[in-house]
Amino acid sequence: MRVVIAGAGLAGLSCAKYLVDAGYTPIVLERRDVLGGLVAAWKDSDGDWYETGLHAFFGAYPNMLQLLKELGIEDRLQWKQHTLIFNQPDKPGTLSRFDVPDIPSPFNIIVSILRNNDMLTWEQKLRFAVGLLPAIVRGQEYVEEMDKYSFAEWLKGQGIGERVASDVFIAASKALTFINPDQVSSTILLTALNRFLQERYGSKIAFLDGSPTERLCQPIVDYITQKGGEVRLNAPLKEIMLNPDGTVRGFLLRGLDGKPDEVITADFYVSAMSVDPLKVMLPEPWRQMEFFQKLEGLEGVPVINLHLWFDQKLTDIDHLLFSRSPLLSVYADMSNTCREYSNPDRSMLELVLAPAQDWIDKSDEEIVSATMTELQKLFPHHFGGEEPAKLLKSHVVKTPRSVYKATPGRQKYRPPQKTPIANFFLSGSYTMQRYLGSMEGAVLSGKLTAQAISHIPTLNRPPAKNAATA
Ligand SMILES: Cc1cc2nc3c(=O)[nH]c(=O)nc-3n(C[C@H](O)[C@H](O)[C@H](O)COP(=O)(O)OP(=O)(O)OC[C@H]3O[C@@H](n4cnc5c(N)ncnc54)[C@H](O)[C@@H]3O)c2cc1C
Repeated sequence: MRVVIAGAGLAGLSCAKYLVDAGYTPIVLERRDVLGGLVAAWKDSDGDWYETGLHAFFGAYPNMLQLLKELGIEDRLQWKQHTLIFNQPDKPGTLSRFDVPDIPSPFNIIVSILRNNDMLTWEQKLRFAVGLLPAIVRGQEYVEEMDKYSFAEWLKGQGIGERVASDVFIAASKALTFINPDQVSSTILLTALNRFLQERYGSKIAFLDGSPTERLCQPIVDYITQKGGEVRLNAPLKEIMLNPDGTVRGFLLRGLDGKPDEVITADFYVSAMSVDPLKVMLPEPWRQMEFFQKLEGLEGVPVINLHLWFDQKLTDIDHLLFSRSPLLSVYADMSNTCREYSNPDRSMLELVLAPAQDWIDKSDEEIVSATMTELQKLFPHHFGGEEPAKLLKSHVVKTPRSVYKATPGRQKYRPPQKTPIANFFLSGSYTMQRYLGSMEGAVLSGKLTAQAISHIPTLNRPPAKNAATA
């Protein structure tokens, strides 16, 4: 049974992996010349990698960890100390840590919060703990109900002041969704907090030991192709072609470099594209259907990823840092955190700029310059004095539409992987699964799609067809 999948991000690749495991022949078609979608990376002319995003893996990513294990590459994750580290904007150059002791959950997280007195007062800690009780007791049901509130509204409802929202939770909100706490749905932060509270190592962070394209995506492709599947780059889906009954007749690929367009046919079809290109591609008859109309409620959020190479070391911290700055979200010195990018003498900071709405159309020079100003607050000792750190080079990667924008009320628009069209399925971190717009969410969505396809009784399956050229 052939399954054609449009999109070689983590969702499309995971879907293909689990389909070959179930005995199917997946053919993955990727529009670009690089694997990975939002985890894609490139090498510059000096041989240095730069990436679409700074990516942190969490202990609370069971499907990603299982996938790495199945591929025999789990040792590529470099686990860091169990701690969360925040900059303190009011004390430039200083850090505040939530060290998580190695005791069972949720006590490990509770102890880490109780021990940190930099960011929350005792009264705020108490109110926050009481506020979290329904999430712990009623679980996901309560968390989903809270989708109607922004996180700032939820905090206010618990009697926790707005300052806390802007000061403390700005870090988590921007890191998880690239938007501020007054915009983000409560469901996002409560889901993350719930996972961290319920799993002993849930908040433990790891970095990949090299570029995601080479060290994570390529092994999935190797696995798929060894088992008879196929992954094609430079293969953009142009049109979803329909049969008279509204089911899919074929995927029409745009021919590149003067080649003719090509029709690929299969038994089943999957869109593992992100939601924005899918909306544009929907065939006219499907646009009348409520299922597909709901996709209008979702859109990708802009984000920018920066790489700055310096002539000296700025820090020896081997971890993710939460900047708590209005301009930046998380950052890391990749010369410490990632084996392949390591350098004992010079720092390479990878930083996420979010929210990026007001920056996405600005020039790289403007973006780097604003970031350098911000860095003077994060590393005051390295940019003042006699020998200030010099910026050697930079790369800026802009993504105008990344993961779905998780504002309040979005949960009801997120579609399941199975659609009303018998031979058409969806994958992608925007589709409904409990891990939101993350790598874990993408991998889980691909697995759920593969399961949905392989659970269809054989008798209902349309006959297989071969590829044809239009
Ligand atoms: C800056 C940044 C930082 C991030 N940090 C983290 C993090 O720390 N931890 C975490 O878990 N997650 C993080 N994420 C989120 C994570 O990267 C995504 O949730 C995940 O990679 C999405 O995978 P996907 O397969 O659902 O979608 P995508 O990666 O968007 O894949 C969709 C694919 O479809 C392809 N496509 C589109 N149109 C066509 C077409 N017409 N024909 C063929 N192919 C097409 C695209 O080229 C793309 O390859 C981050 C994302 C960004 C941008």
